[in-house]
Amino acid sequence: MSVVSSPDYDVIVVGGGHNGLVAATYLAKAGRKVALIEARPSLGGSSISYQAFPEYPVQLSRYSYLVSLFPDDIKNELGLNFRTLSRKVSSYTPVNQDSENLGLLVERNLGPATEESFRKITGSKSDFLAWQDFYSRIERLARYLAPSLLKPLENIEALKAGFDDQQLWHELFEQPIGVTVSQRFQDDVVRGVVLTDALVGTFSSVDDFQANICFLYHVIGNGSGEWRVPAGGMGALVSELERAARKHGVQIIVDERIDAINGDSKSLDVQTSDGRTYSCRDLVWSADDRALARLLSESVPERRDGSQIKMNMLLKELPKLKSGIDPRTAFVGTFHIDESAIQLESAYRLSAAGSLPQVIPSEVYCHSLTDPSIVGDSGLHTLTLFAFHTPATLFENNRQLNTAKATERIIAGINCYLEEPLEESLAYDSHGRACLEVKNPLDLEDELDLPRGNIFHGDLTMPFAETDDTGKWGSETSHGNIFLGGASARRGGGVSGIAGHNAAFALMAKGNL
Ligand SMILES: Cc1cc2nc3c(=O)[nH]c(=O)nc-3n(C[C@H](O)[C@H](O)[C@H](O)COP(=O)(O)OP(=O)(O)OC[C@H]3O[C@@H](n4cnc5c(N)ncnc54)[C@H](O)[C@@H]3O)c2cc1C
Repeated sequence: MSVVSSPDYDVIVVGGGHNGLVAATYLAKAGRKVALIEARPSLGGSSISYQAFPEYPVQLSRYSYLVSLFPDDIKNELGLNFRTLSRKVSSYTPVNQDSENLGLLVERNLGPATEESFRKITGSKSDFLAWQDFYSRIERLARYLAPSLLKPLENIEALKAGFDDQQLWHELFEQPIGVTVSQRFQDDVVRGVVLTDALVGTFSSVDDFQANICFLYHVIGNGSGEWRVPAGGMGALVSELERAARKHGVQIIVDERIDAINGDSKSLDVQTSDGRTYSCRDLVWSADDRALARLLSESVPERRDGSQIKMNMLLKELPKLKSGIDPRTAFVGTFHIDESAIQLESAYRLSAAGSLPQVIPSEVYCHSLTDPSIVGDSGLHTLTLFAFHTPATLFENNRQLNTAKATERIIAGINCYLEEPLEESLAYDSHGRACLEVKNPLDLEDELDLPRGNIFHGDLTMPFAETDDTGKWGSETSHGNIFLGGASARRGGGVSGIAGHNAAFALMAKGNL
């Protein structure tokens, strides 16, 4: 084990996803000499824009696509010129009820159209009133909890005592979210729309507390829980982060994979797979924590598999709906397909037992309706699809065939609600190939190092201290000079920059310059 006396850098950040960039920039801004090392030729990790279909100059948010959790405080402190845009509709769920094609509309600002659609689908006013009550209480929780995400972990009991709605606290933190939702809402479709937030990227039953944690992060972002469209696509965030990092002097090294770490509590050597060595005092690890554990020869934590399929599509026109709603209203927000509470749980149980569900719950949205800038003057629209409960294990054997099967089932699911099959609306290239790309969890592992395709690197964690870690940042490891600054840190996961921010502050708190 070699120990370097005069390190090349104060800090090396490994992983150039958005969190790594946030960590590196805060540290450089505070005067540290920082290098950021990224394995791939370009930065961004899961947050990139990409021209997926070479004949069409459309920059799709290839992996992550909506922003809620990225705090304005980070944006302002790092001087990022990055905007997110509100969608005028939160969601639309097509429903076939007694052979009638209806839909549950949830506007961003709930109005008469939302109220009327609840009445039609549920047969009464009660779920609409329950919705208003639940989400107005959640908004108060969001405002209460969001600021704590950028501070050292607070004790659960103290946080609980300081919140003025103990009933909601109980419903979200002390009983399964599946129970809460079935107590509050009567209708299976309405329940499903609420529960999708508990299952995005989380392979879990709604009776498992992991679903509560996922739900929480989906409703508290930036103190409002609103999911907004990144203007210019996800790549716009990363370009701004890269600009800020360079401005503050971060040395960015791409196309170099770190595959060994040696050293002690004073100094570390990191080695790249092609034999280069860089030395530093402190290390921020902004990639998966299991990979770090392997490099440090430590026991590798157990995590659940990733379980989603991501599809990106280009459309020559928006498809018409059997329900007759204007497609610009239906697709501007999240369009839920076969995501009722019963359908979600049944898909989970089937895939947990090893079968690809016949009905695969999924959701789509059209970025270009809110932000046409990404399609330029092509006249096209984009469609981003995220399917649930399709875990990595289902693709291990016969990956190609099972991906094709899943794709077919997902498209068949959408087609049930369309006037004409989706295939009629897709754009095609000059070879007659549809502009549709599909990524299963194993593709995400290959392309992004997401372990088993888990979009959050690992299981999300409650945003407070439950044991003796009150006052810590949730980035600390058993090594005083190695910090977790990526999605697998506490309070990591999602496009939030929070893990990067917190790793930088944990490191600065020890003040060893
Ligand atoms: C399909 C998909 C859809 C999603 N949708 C959303 C969404 O809409 N909204 C949202 O908030 N979140 C979404 N997420 C989750 C979110 O994108 C991630 O949780 C978040 O981007 C993780 O950021 P990160 O910087 O921590 O890690 P990553 O983005 O995973 O970046 C880690 C980086 O580390 C690099 N790396 C790995 N190992 C090494 C090594 N040994 N040496 C050097 N570099 C290394 C990788 O190449 C990568 O660039 C989605 C994720 C996916 C995959």
